[in-house]
Amino acid sequence: MFSLQGLLLLGYPYSAYFVLMHPRPAQPSPIQLLDDPLLEAARVRLYLKRDDLLHPHISGNKWRKLYYNLEAARQQGWERLLTFGGAYSNHIAATAAAGREWGLQTIGIIRGEEHLPLNPTLQFARQQGMALHYLDREAYRHKDEPAQLEALQQQLGPFYYIPEGGSNALAVKGCAELVGELDVQQYDFIATACGTGGTLAGLVAGLNRRQQALGFPVLRGSSYLKGAVDALTEAYNGQCYQNYQLMPDYHFGGYAKWTPELINFINLFRDKTGIPLDPIYTGKMMFGLYDLVKKGWFKPGTRLLAIHTGGLQGIKGFNERFGELVEG
Ligand SMILES: *Cc1c(COP(=O)(O)O)cnc(C)c1O
Repeated sequence: MFSLQGLLLLGYPYSAYFVLMHPRPAQPSPIQLLDDPLLEAARVRLYLKRDDLLHPHISGNKWRKLYYNLEAARQQGWERLLTFGGAYSNHIAATAAAGREWGLQTIGIIRGEEHLPLNPTLQFARQQGMALHYLDREAYRHKDEPAQLEALQQQLGPFYYIPEGGSNALAVKGCAELVGELDVQQYDFIATACGTGGTLAGLVAGLNRRQQALGFPVLRGSSYLKGAVDALTEAYNGQCYQNYQLMPDYHFGGYAKWTPELINFINLFRDKTGIPLDPIYTGKMMFGLYDLVKKGWFKPGTRLLAIHTGGLQGIKGFNERFGELVEG
């Protein structure tokens, strides 16, 4: 398929007039209805959209967030991507794998100091060819500032910049496409876990004031998210939306924090359904959804769609840090 964007980029120095788009999965990710006595008793139907199956290494929302960024980088003639993330970041792993698949070099700027041997996430990123650099926590806080990016450019050479978590207007575009794969009338709520809010921004923009989205923040103190989601949808299409709610009570103490109850839930869920959840994002969202069902938050007859945003690469590093808690 020839790309329209290729035609629009006639002015760029290195771009071919016709650029082949990167191949995409032939099928939308599958949707499964979950079978559970709790759901049945509450007369709530809960579906799971298996974005974790989109790609073996660029899983879930990271595939959607990276797709148009990597297409843009390639079409504009960039040779290298640079992005930011924590040492166990799904986004770092996904960007490394995507860069390799798209034929672009990748640089990962990692928060904190280097620890050797590398943890499984960074080992994987390195295997995919990503060059790793480290920024101390203080400097990392200023990562988005022009001066910091300028300094990195001086040090490392030119790059296509992808912000932490991959969240920018093109990521919103990619995530909004998920809604196009749904018959939205079939669902009352669409749920996702939230970090930077890019995925939620894509869902609400794609829903375009129809059904409600539910965001489950995995960080403590999620008041930043409303502003982040607004800024992202505004960058994408100039609009802000109200058709979403944040469910701030399921972060379990913060990013990568957990309780035995959460771990039990994840292992039990896997035993019952055969579907793995990660302890950082999807496990917290699903725990939250089941808890809300238990508390009667959803009226009988409610139909929910939860997005399995992937993140399963993180299980190995999580288990390495905390003991073999999550059954892999
Ligand atoms: C990154 C990630 C999220 C959070 O996505 P944001 O767009 O940053 O809010 C959710 N789930 C998984 C599995 C992720 O890896």
